[in-house]
Amino acid sequence: MICLGVECTAHTISVGICDEKGVRANEIATHPFSKEGLIPRKLADHHTANFIKVLNKALEKGGCAIEEVDVIAVSQGPGIGAPLSVGIGAAKYLALKYKKPLVGVNHPLAHVKISEWQCRARDPLVLYLSGGNSQIIVKKGEFEYYVIGETLDMGMGNLFDSFAREVGLEPAHGGELARRAEKGEYFYLPYTVKGMNLVFSGLFTAAKKHIGKRPVEDLAKALMETAFAMSCEVTERALFLTKKKELIACGGVAQNRRLQEMLRIMCSEIGVKFGVAEDQFNRDNGAMIAYTGMLIYKKYGGFEGEEISTFEPLPKYRIDQVEEVLSITPPPPPRP
Ligand code: MG
Repeated sequence: MICLGVECTAHTISVGICDEKGVRANEIATHPFSKEGLIPRKLADHHTANFIKVLNKALEKGGCAIEEVDVIAVSQGPGIGAPLSVGIGAAKYLALKYKKPLVGVNHPLAHVKISEWQCRARDPLVLYLSGGNSQIIVKKGEFEYYVIGETLDMGMGNLFDSFAREVGLEPAHGGELARRAEKGEYFYLPYTVKGMNLVFSGLFTAAKKHIGKRPVEDLAKALMETAFAMSCEVTERALFLTKKKELIACGGVAQNRRLQEMLRIMCSEIGVKFGVAEDQFNRDNGAMIAYTGMLIYKKYGGFEGEEISTFEPLPKYRIDQVEEVLSITPPPPPRP
């Protein structure tokens, strides 16, 4: 089986191709991180302009024609409406034109599934840290996951990207901030953990008050170290509670080497196996959508023929809704 996956939830348009043996292609185009932040209209324009390029490159690298693809998968949510609509529109067109089944994929689930495969984890606790989401997720079944802790305000990646913009970094994102943090000195900033949940807005406000008074390197170090320590604390508590023996970190922020180091130390102290996927799968990417789409198709099938036109984005689609959404796929036809 060959599955082609389209990722389009936020700043990235990507097409990946997977088969039973693994990933064949993963072509990614990301809207540049600038001081103006993510503007939905501009993300949609970027994805419209780049979709055909990433599609053709992925098919070339994957060594197959679109006719040979068996299933089309697309990220259905959570995400920003405008870019989500571009990718879903493109995927629906491909599915209808080439008469392929269409599968909707929950974006966080895709990060989790490709990490389980890469890290050979069967029954993990998951720390999912990205721009829009920061969650502790516990696995119950193949497509059954529960959120047992999460941010009560902004995602950790959003915290870092917003702060990078505040201090005028270019490119303005967490990766650039992390490079500055390597040379910085830690100082105290407020640390807020509520049970297994995280709160970042107080930390953000406090860090902003130091802008201009300390070097950017120190601000970056203190902000990131504090946020990472908070996530380590809640993760350790969740491991203790769930008695899971495997931990996976995934999502854009999971690429951070300092965070990986802190989690690895914490896990080794309590006898838990720690795993993190390659960076290309922690970025937003089409390969994880293709891989997860293939798993979903095998168990639930997909939208076919006339049903495809009823497929819709789910901008607030949570990982704990996946089983429910998949079990009513395709949805019953609308009443006249
Ligand atoms: Mg992501």
